[in-house]
Amino acid sequence: MGDPSAQSGHVGREDIIIIGGGIIGCTTAYYITHHPRFNPSIHSVTILEAAKIGNGASGKAGGLVASWAYPDNIAGLSFELHNELAQEHGGAELWGYRRVHCGQLTAVRYPIVPDGKPKSTSLSTIALGKWWSGSGKKTSMLPHDLNWFDVEAVQSYEEFADTNSTAQVHPAHFTSCMVKLAEQSGARVVLGIDSTQKKIVSLTYTDKATSAKHTMQASKIILAAGPWTPTLMPQVQMSPLRAHSVTLKLKQQVSAYCLFTDITLGAATLSLDHAEPIDPLPSSKTISLEIYARPNNEVYICSQGDFDIPLPRPTDAVEVSPQSCQEIIDAATRVSDELRDGLVTGRRACYLPVMNGGTRSDPLVGYTGVEGLLLATRHSCWGISNAPATGKMISELIFDGKVVCTDIGNLDPRNIL
Ligand SMILES: Cc1cc2nc3c(=O)[nH]c(=O)nc-3n(C[C@H](O)[C@H](O)[C@H](O)COP(=O)(O)OP(=O)(O)OC[C@H]3O[C@@H](n4cnc5c(N)ncnc54)[C@H](O)[C@@H]3O)c2cc1C
Repeated sequence: MGDPSAQSGHVGREDIIIIGGGIIGCTTAYYITHHPRFNPSIHSVTILEAAKIGNGASGKAGGLVASWAYPDNIAGLSFELHNELAQEHGGAELWGYRRVHCGQLTAVRYPIVPDGKPKSTSLSTIALGKWWSGSGKKTSMLPHDLNWFDVEAVQSYEEFADTNSTAQVHPAHFTSCMVKLAEQSGARVVLGIDSTQKKIVSLTYTDKATSAKHTMQASKIILAAGPWTPTLMPQVQMSPLRAHSVTLKLKQQVSAYCLFTDITLGAATLSLDHAEPIDPLPSSKTISLEIYARPNNEVYICSQGDFDIPLPRPTDAVEVSPQSCQEIIDAATRVSDELRDGLVTGRRACYLPVMNGGTRSDPLVGYTGVEGLLLATRHSCWGISNAPATGKMISELIFDGKVVCTDIGNLDPRNIL
């Protein structure tokens, strides 16, 4: 930390400013400070973060890392780089890096009413407990080590990726380790700021705590402000999607699976002596959850996004809906004893940096039409996975003048700006 405005610019210096202390900004700072041509006596790297490191989705995401993510030109590379980073810096210990299985699971719960009469059709008023039953069909379709779901609730399971192509990290821990490693190599971090003006010879920001204005030299500015990037460069199109998540602390460790689930909760339409559900159930509800086992007895669960509340400014004013979090907890805990016995340790919301209403969009990584201004943003649902390749590409653009680790392809912002 420190006051970077004290720096004086001189010929030959490269003053690089990264706006945004999410996983993209912090990993980019890591790769810049670890590039063979980086020389702290002539290069400065400063991360300007409006709130705190990992304030946005990077501190609240699931952490799935996959070579089968998209886009193709960086997903495989980034998977390998995650592996390298973990080997080099003790990622297993520091940010929970490990290989995982990944599968699609469907489960159904129909409450049983002992006297045959419906008790309630409202999901939120159904008390947790074991007074319901599954579909009545026993299943042995789960792998033997995926033993933390109630087998009678599971309707189908399909593994679509194994440990050769899939891993996980704890995103908040990974992001804070990247920034620490960058700082150890000379980067600076300034927190709690509002960047007000920018041009590529200097940048002015306001310290939110003191209202003092600071002006810094800047020969390169990298916009890595996730879903907030359009507030700095309106030409970048984004329609940020809010998503809720919860974390549970379990009584015991569960096996390393990241699961995409559809959980159908039926209304009270069955009786004990009539175990088959009436299909379709008029008031049943299916909720899609991503359920990720993590090391240290933690399980992370997130649901699909909503556009109910637009992206807030300031960046630390994201609203969490208690009801959305409760729906996640209600659904997940009805299909797993282990989850039901867990303690809820976090209820969160964050915004996905995505365009076109949440459909697939490729990130923007590289130079813009404005000299010295680069973008590293719009990573949609794969920003954790693709952060290392993004950081490496930006470091190569700055020091080698072109991307050498992969084909930049359609990620080049100049294709659309
Ligand atoms: C629920 C959920 C689960 C996810 N799970 C996964 C997953 O399992 N795997 C995966 O690969 N991806 C996942 N993602 C996607 C991933 O989280 C994002 O793509 C990634 O975090 C984006 O990182 P970022 O650094 O671009 O943005 P952010 O994390 O949003 O960081 C942007 C930062 O910029 C700061 N900022 C904004 N404006 C300014 C300004 N003017 N000045 C200074 N700072 C500013 C903000 O405060 C913030 O800290 C998930 C996303 C969500 C929402």
